Amino acid sequence: MVEPIDFPAPTLQPDGIDRRPSPYLRLSQSQLNRLTACPRKFQHIDLEQLAAPGESAQQERQDQGTRFHQLMQQWFLGLPIEPLVQDDPLLQSWLNGFVNAAPSILTLTHDRTAWGQSEHIRTLEFEGYLLTVVYDLLLANQQQAQILDWKTYPRPQNPRWLLQNWQTRLYPFVLAETSDFDPEQIAMIYWFFQSSSDHVPDVQRFSVAYDAAQHKQIRADLVHLLTQLTNWLERYQNGEPFPQIPLESSECDRCSFAIRCDRAHPATEQSSSPSVDRAAPIQLTNIADIEEVAL
Ligand code: SF4
Repeated sequence: MVEPIDFPAPTLQPDGIDRRPSPYLRLSQSQLNRLTACPRKFQHIDLEQLAAPGESAQQERQDQGTRFHQLMQQWFLGLPIEPLVQDDPLLQSWLNGFVNAAPSILTLTHDRTAWGQSEHIRTLEFEGYLLTVVYDLLLANQQQAQILDWKTYPRPQNPRWLLQNWQTRLYPFVLAETSDFDPEQIAMIYWFFQSSSDHVPDVQRFSVAYDAAQHKQIRADLVHLLTQLTNWLERYQNGEPFPQIPLESSECDRCSFAIRCDRAHPATEQSSSPSVDRAAPIQLTNIADIEEVAL
């Protein structure tokens, strides 16, 4: 039986959630990533809610990751976790890895006493949108705040894509904007949980420091992207689809919407979907109901 660590009662600043009824669209880091990668893909998935078919192996990995996040949340709430890990050696292995590394994971520099909350949600009203973040775990004391995120895949050899990912950028930005913490007091820390074939746990850390210069750059990048989004949404409501990425982009080769986008030829007549690019007007408030897709 694993005993949860006893956190002091929460005394942190307001959570930043704007609970007033809002006409604004809600955007997550996943949606910002999609919008940046390909605006047309954002249209397909986030506006029209077309399912992107995934491979079964990929779906299984996503399900395992989801189960681990549920396990962590249960653990931090002090709820029973045995029903979740029994008959699941992989999950048990990741849990063992977490328990072994917990003294490192759950300790802030110079201070073992910190406030912590799992699945901590914050929302920032910005440029006419509601930027919403969900921290797997937020640890904080008077001097610093750490945003922790669990990943159930190997730590990347080249961390560049992690540094450019909107999760790494948006998460500290929203905390700095919705709390008393200066950017320099905030860090984004990824924990990668892996297991060998015989379920020996391997836990690796990747920490990203934050500062005022990054904060300023992220603000500028967000303003630019969201201004573009506003423009594309206005055109979309008049029947013009979101832009596609350039024809020569390799992104289309592995995209589930290649046929719909006229970027690939269907294998059979029956499997083709219309490559109609005229967008049907939609109720834009629907986007607020769209679930975040895991990184
Ligand atoms: S096929 Fe290419 S243009 Fe179309 S949604 Fe996918 S990535 Fe974007």
